[in-house]
Amino acid sequence: MNVAPTDWTARWARYTPHSIAVSDGERSLSYAELHRGGLCLAHFLLEKGLRKGDRIAVLAENDPAYILLFVAAQKAGFVLVPVNYRLSGREVAYILEDAEPALVIYQEGWQHVLPATDNGKPHPPRYELQEIKSAATGTDVRSIIPESPAEDDPIFILYTSGTTGFPKGALYTHRMLFWNSENTVLSLDLGPDSRTVNVMPPFHTGGWNVLTTPLLHRGGYTRLLRKFDAGEVLRLLEVEKVTVFMAVPTMVRMLAESSAFATTDLSELKYLIVGGEPLSPALIERWHRRGVPIRQGFGMTEVGPNLFSLHQDDALTKKGSIGRPNFYVQTRVVRESGTDCAPDESGELWLRGPMTTPGYWRNAEATERAFSDGWFRTGDTVRRDAEDYFYVVGRLKEMYISGGENVYPAEVERRLEEHPAVGETAVVGVPDPCWGEVGHAYIVLAPGASVTAIDLQAYCRQGLAGFKVPKHFTFLEALPRNATGKVDRKALKARK
Ligand code: ATP
Ligand code: MG
Repeated sequence: MNVAPTDWTARWARYTPHSIAVSDGERSLSYAELHRGGLCLAHFLLEKGLRKGDRIAVLAENDPAYILLFVAAQKAGFVLVPVNYRLSGREVAYILEDAEPALVIYQEGWQHVLPATDNGKPHPPRYELQEIKSAATGTDVRSIIPESPAEDDPIFILYTSGTTGFPKGALYTHRMLFWNSENTVLSLDLGPDSRTVNVMPPFHTGGWNVLTTPLLHRGGYTRLLRKFDAGEVLRLLEVEKVTVFMAVPTMVRMLAESSAFATTDLSELKYLIVGGEPLSPALIERWHRRGVPIRQGFGMTEVGPNLFSLHQDDALTKKGSIGRPNFYVQTRVVRESGTDCAPDESGELWLRGPMTTPGYWRNAEATERAFSDGWFRTGDTVRRDAEDYFYVVGRLKEMYISGGENVYPAEVERRLEEHPAVGETAVVGVPDPCWGEVGHAYIVLAPGASVTAIDLQAYCRQGLAGFKVPKHFTFLEALPRNATGKVDRKALKARK
C-alpha cells in the first residue's frame, strides 16, 4: 500500500473500515467514509486551485466536516487555520490578515463574524461548511494526490489563547502531530477501543490535539459536541460509554456540581484528563470519590500539547503536581542565569523534543525570543522534586513584586481555594503606593457559602508569607474568562 506517512485515515480504512471514527449525534463517519470523504474533499480543493502549503481558515464549531478537512489536509498538505469565532470582529480580521488564507470556510449563518466586503466578491473566496460537506460526498475518489506533505510541513497554524498578550500563530507540523500522539498513547494507553467526547473548542490545541488526533491516529472514536452543557456531557459520557475525556478545570467543577453527577454511570471512564490551568485538590478528591481517576495534565499550543501527566495513583500523594514529563519530552528547569536548578528550586521550564513547533508564523522575532539553544522557553515557572515530579509555580508574566518579593498568583489561589467557602478565585497584582504591587483577590463563593474578606485574609495569613496575602478582595458571581475558558486576567486588572 503506497500511502503517505502523514495519511493515517487511509490505513484505518483498510484495517477497520467499518469502525466509527467520528459522530456529532446526527451524522457518523466510519474510517472508510472518512478516508473517501477526505479524498473527495482534497480533489475538490485542488480543483479550486489550492496547493500544498495553502492556508484554509475555518470558523466553525465542532463538526464532522472539520474532521474531513483535517483528513484532506493530511492527504494533500493544506494548512488549517482554526479561527476563534468568539473573538471580536477586529481580532478575527487580524488573524485572517496574518494567516493570509487561500480560502475561508465558515459555519452557516456566521457571515457576521467575518470582515465586511465592499464589492460583494470577497477575497479570498468564502465557503459555507455545508458546501464542504457536499464536496466530501462527491464521486471523485481518485486516490492519487499530486503532492503529499512532508513531515516537517505544517498542518495547522494554531493561535495561542492570548492569555498573556495577542494570540501568536504557532506552526504545527505533521511531525508534531505524530509525536504528540505517541506521547499521548504511551501515557494513556489509547487504541481502537478508546472513545471520547470532544467538547473543547476546535480553534484551540486542546480541542484538536489532546485526544481527537491521537484517537484518529489509533483508530478510536470521537463524539463531537458543539457546546459545553454539564447535563448533556454527563449523559454522553454514559450513553457513549466514554473511556477517556478531556476538560478544563471550570468544566470539571461544573460537571461535579451538576445534579446528574451522582447518578450518571461513569464505570467505563478510565481517565478524566484536566489541563490548561491548575485544578484544586478538593475537586480531584470529589471525582475520585465518584470512582473516576483524574489525570492532571499540562500542555501548551507550541509544544506537544500533551507534555506532562500525573498518574491517578499519585494524585493525592503528589497533590498539586502536573506529574512527570511524557515519554518523548525533554525538560530543563532553568535559572535566570541560564544554569540548571537543583531539585525543589523554582525556575523556567524549557522543553525540547520532536513535538516542538518550528516557530511562529511569519514572526521571526517572537520565534527568536522563544528559543534558546534549541530549547523552547515556556514562560512558565516550575519546580521539580527529587523524584522528577513537576509543580507549576506560575507564569512569569503573571508574577508581581510586592515589597521586593516575587509573588505567583497561582500559589495564593491554591491557598484560597482550600477554604471551604471559596468556589473559584483569581489573584492579580495591582499597583500600591507602599509596596509597589499588592494582590487583589477575586472570589466566587461555593454554592450557598458565605465568608468575609477579613476571614479570608486571616486564613491566608495562616498558610502564606505576609507579602503574599492579598490586600484587596472582591466577590464576583463568576470570573471573566477568555474564549478557551481561562481566567481573563487582563479584564480583572482593568477593573477599577
Ligand atoms: P498565550 O501564549 O497567548 O499567552 P496561553 O499560554 O494561555 O496564551 P495556551 O497554549 O493555550 O495559551 O496555554 C498554555 C499555557 O497554559 C501554559 O504555558 C501554562 O501557563 C498553562 N497551563 C497549561 N496546563 C496547566 C496546568 N495543568 N496548570 C497550570 N497551568 C497550566
Ligand atoms: Mg503561552
